[in-house]
Amino acid sequence: MSTIAAVATPDAVGGISVIRISGPDAFSVCDKCFKAFNNKTAGDMEGYTCSYGLITDENNERVDDVVLTVFRAPRSYTGENVAEISCHGGRYITNKILRLVLNSGAVPAQAGEFTKRAFLNGKLSLTQAEAVMDIISSGGEAQLRYANALKNGSIFKRISKIKSSLVEILSSLAAWADFPEEDVPEVENDTLICQLSTVLNELIKISDSYDEGRIIREGINTVICGKPNVGKSTLMNCLTGYQRSIVTDIAGTTRDVIEESVRLGDLTLRLSDTAGIRDTNDVIEGMGVDIAFDRINEADLILVVFDSTSELDNKEHDLINKLKGKKCIAILNKIDGDLNINKDTLYSSFDYVVEISAKNYVGIDELKEIVRKLFLDHISDADEGIIANERQRSCVRGAVTDIEEAISILQCSDMLDAVTVVLDSALSHLMELTGERVSDTVIDDVFSRFCVGK
Ligand code: GDP
Repeated sequence: MSTIAAVATPDAVGGISVIRISGPDAFSVCDKCFKAFNNKTAGDMEGYTCSYGLITDENNERVDDVVLTVFRAPRSYTGENVAEISCHGGRYITNKILRLVLNSGAVPAQAGEFTKRAFLNGKLSLTQAEAVMDIISSGGEAQLRYANALKNGSIFKRISKIKSSLVEILSSLAAWADFPEEDVPEVENDTLICQLSTVLNELIKISDSYDEGRIIREGINTVICGKPNVGKSTLMNCLTGYQRSIVTDIAGTTRDVIEESVRLGDLTLRLSDTAGIRDTNDVIEGMGVDIAFDRINEADLILVVFDSTSELDNKEHDLINKLKGKKCIAILNKIDGDLNINKDTLYSSFDYVVEISAKNYVGIDELKEIVRKLFLDHISDADEGIIANERQRSCVRGAVTDIEEAISILQCSDMLDAVTVVLDSALSHLMELTGERVSDTVIDDVFSRFCVGK
């Protein structure tokens, strides 16, 4: 195994930078360019200790005074010998020290290679390794909480429990098939179906947690829609806190989709203000209206805006019908003006109706509160563990399909061999999720998303 090195801190000027070295020769590499003031070599240092000293170049010229920290295998991030040089945080100095380290026998680390080594050395499961990147890219408290729970093995433990149940079922099937003459208890179809249904339900719950994770990570994909001139852009500006959408009283001003992110405590709203939904002869605006309907179909949340000073027209009745069954909040805007709308229609068509005056910032906090309740109340406890990415989700879905197949085989036959084959495949999917049985291509793909130095 080679000894790798990379700058572990961002490529920017800062107080300090850290150069991380990992591998069998980590300490001898350091000893070629680092001299401790107490004359101790890196090779002599105990794990978890630091030395203050000098980095010198090929001509023995002083480059920087640094702190060297030593971690001895297997008690390190990668499970190998690791040395970290904390130097002054200038770009030039950091890169010069990295070059000296590389000239002393280390090779440049690839993206995510430190974490990949941690995974290959059994320090982390694949889901825990993936959480490292989630922790780094956390944009808020909730995201960090879920990433930390993943890093602590929440989903790994949840999947491991399911794997144990499957292994138990598979071993009873094997014992029954292979040693019929022994005193092995008979495997009953109904008992198996019952056990597999429990496993299936838990897997479906885990698979559904993907959407919660996506909402925490990426935000709530929110569309603001409604007829032209009802106040969509004004509402968007209220929520984002500044004038992002062009507000005029000429119908059709917002021709395309304008996007903006708003933080609501633990949640992020990813807002799209769409072109007003109405018949239009304007080709460009017409395209905007098509996009509006596409967005509505993909959205996690739809804020549908109505003007309380005018009656609902046919287009709006159509829109109300189109939105049936979707997660919607009806916004009754312009309540500062004369009421002409039939409020009852809205209250009977939507689960949530908020009366606002976007122009005067009235009712906006109430709207934010409803959004928070609508989403936060449905998000599971971080410690339960949720799946964090498409790779993990497709592994869980693979296992779900296999177990559904096993149940349907058992419901119409007693072909236990066929059941064993599909349950084996379900187990493989779960082991791919945790990284216990995974191809090099998948591993390379996971770690290629990491940054260099992590
Ligand atoms: P959009 O076409 O749906 O995006 O509508 P705009 O946000 O551009 O607003 C259309 C017009 O309605 C503008 O003249 C706004 O100033 C006005 N407007 C928006 N919200 C309110 C409100 O709460 N009260 C009143 N009186 N006028 C509003």
